[in-house]
Amino acid sequence: MSLPTTLADPSQTGEFALIARHFQRPNSPLPASVALGVGDDCALLSPTPGHQIAISSDMLVSGRHFLPDVAPAALGHKALAVNLSDLAAMGARPLGFTLALALPQVDDTWLSELAQGLFSLADAQRCPLVGGDTTRGPLNLCITVFGEVPPGSALRRSAARVGDDIYVSGDLGGACLALSWLQSPTGAPQEALARLRERLERPTPRVALGQALLGVARAAIDISDGLAGDLGHLLRASGVGGELVLEALPQPDAVAALPAAQRLRCVLQGGDDYELVFTAPPGARLGVEAAARRSDTPVWRVGQIVAGSGLHLINAQGGRQRFTGAGFDHFT
Ligand code: ADP
Ligand code: MG
Repeated sequence: MSLPTTLADPSQTGEFALIARHFQRPNSPLPASVALGVGDDCALLSPTPGHQIAISSDMLVSGRHFLPDVAPAALGHKALAVNLSDLAAMGARPLGFTLALALPQVDDTWLSELAQGLFSLADAQRCPLVGGDTTRGPLNLCITVFGEVPPGSALRRSAARVGDDIYVSGDLGGACLALSWLQSPTGAPQEALARLRERLERPTPRVALGQALLGVARAAIDISDGLAGDLGHLLRASGVGGELVLEALPQPDAVAALPAAQRLRCVLQGGDDYELVFTAPPGARLGVEAAARRSDTPVWRVGQIVAGSGLHLINAQGGRQRFTGAGFDHFT
């Protein structure tokens, strides 16, 4: 463990003082896997010898991915959460992340709240900030996360096989319903909205589950753009088809209470849930249950991988319909 030194006197003005004020934490020890953090020309990571490095970047642009008046703490949380979700989907253990930030002006209150949201998730997931870049410009955050995974064991999209079970974690559609309530708030139940708003603004990346599934699951992807679309990527990459049992899809009570068409739209096509969808052979069912318990994450078996291509939905009467992305009237 090493303690970082600061880049500049935090009380001064200018770029380096800004970084020292908000993004250097001289009193937070770094884990052994970070040999050098913020403050030099590069960070230095010390991964477990022989492991592969998993890398992912996500950029959040004001006006496109978030509204300029979003609470900065929620923005900080979400910017890191969406990146950690990609590590989770590969089964990687987080090592650290970098933050590239463009700011229209220096607003210390806003920055300290952003940093608070960012660091509380970073600390909870033991993923320290190790570097970045700061510049003036239209508000924009780009995070790159680094993780590690034992060689050859990462959960890839292309590894599903015919006969595998399909599982999802947590529940689906909550973020989508929260967004639609926030867009037209009249009549939205306040208590349920407050709960689901957390799902939208502070998603929990399933990092522990992803790691627990190494050696158990075959293929995985995180659900950022809706179950149907993201599972569709996995099916295409694996050259297989999939069947989902609609009644088995986990959903928050408020989503389950929606009229059928809207409910299915939220559960199948609603984005921003950041759950995992993954496949495992039927012989691994006990292993999946153990991984769920070990990572303290609910996991549901919701369908299976079949020969062919595309996604099919099975309704309560056993009817089978190809998912096309349009209308669910056959199921109402
Ligand atoms: P250089 O000019 O050598 O690229 P910079 O002046 O951009 O370095 O940054 C100085 C140090 O501050 C580097 O260690 C860099 O990683 C770090 N840094 C800059 N911006 C951020 C940020 N937003 N968050 C964390 N670290 C940052
Ligand atoms: Mg630089």
